[in-house]
Amino acid sequence: MLKLDRLTKSFKNRNAVNAISLDIPEGQMVGIIGRSGAGKSTLLRMLNRLAEPTGGSIIIDGRDITALKGRDLLAWRATCAMVFQQFNLVGRLDVITNVMTGRLYHHNFLASMLQLFTDEDRARAIRALDRLGMAHTALQQADTLSGGQMQRVAIARALVQEPRFLLADEPIASLDPLNAKIVMDALRTINQDDGITVICNLHTLDTARAYCDRIIGLADGNLVFDGAPEALTEAK
Ligand code: ADP
Ligand code: ADP
Repeated sequence: MLKLDRLTKSFKNRNAVNAISLDIPEGQMVGIIGRSGAGKSTLLRMLNRLAEPTGGSIIIDGRDITALKGRDLLAWRATCAMVFQQFNLVGRLDVITNVMTGRLYHHNFLASMLQLFTDEDRARAIRALDRLGMAHTALQQADTLSGGQMQRVAIARALVQEPRFLLADEPIASLDPLNAKIVMDALRTINQDDGITVICNLHTLDTARAYCDRIIGLADGNLVFDGAPEALTEAK
């Protein structure tokens, strides 16, 4: 169980995320919805401490994530894979190398300096790409791919990290409807087949309804809805 307790992030005197408390059982696929500026991105980024909370706590396995430092913080980050709206691939590198960077969480720094990737990393990267239907692009330069293909590569990179949580920040906002469906189907499959908890910021309610077990609604940093998609339909 991932537990948020009055989690808050303020910028100057405004709360981007305002005292949000939530229990997220593992294995769920959670959609966070809300208008631009509602606090979705800030909330998601606090979960792996890309953004520092200014109040409240995040508890996992009885430990407060907001207090972790150094090695412990890195170990936590390794368990949270991120997928971004703009994919965040290294365009000049080939696809397989981009995916293998997800393995760096499992290397110690010196080993990484001496020999960056192992045959095992390569094999895992190919398997992950294959699951996403992207193995044939392994040796292509990443910036030659379409947006939909880039996002599938980014998901493969997340998978080889062997995460416990997959945090997706507007993963389909830059994609056309067909590629959006391919990417959402892939996230749902990973959630169901691998048991990875997926927390996904989405700007359209229809997508959250179609794919998520649970919808969390934010407005101006406040929690305004938390429930099953069916409950949302009834409320409207
Ligand atoms: P969303 O992801 O729902 O679009 P964000 O979490 O990006 O919302 O932003 C929530 C609010 O916090 C917005 O008002 C935004 O302008 C503000 N904000 C986000 N990041 C920063 C920052 N680094 N400095 C100041 N304000 C920020
Ligand atoms: P999105 O809407 O896709 O979440 P934004 O345009 O809100 O993206 O934010 C892009 C980046 O700018 C983020 O890193 C966010 O933290 C930062 N940011 C957003 N709003 C502000 C702000 N008012 N002041 C400073 N930085 C901000």
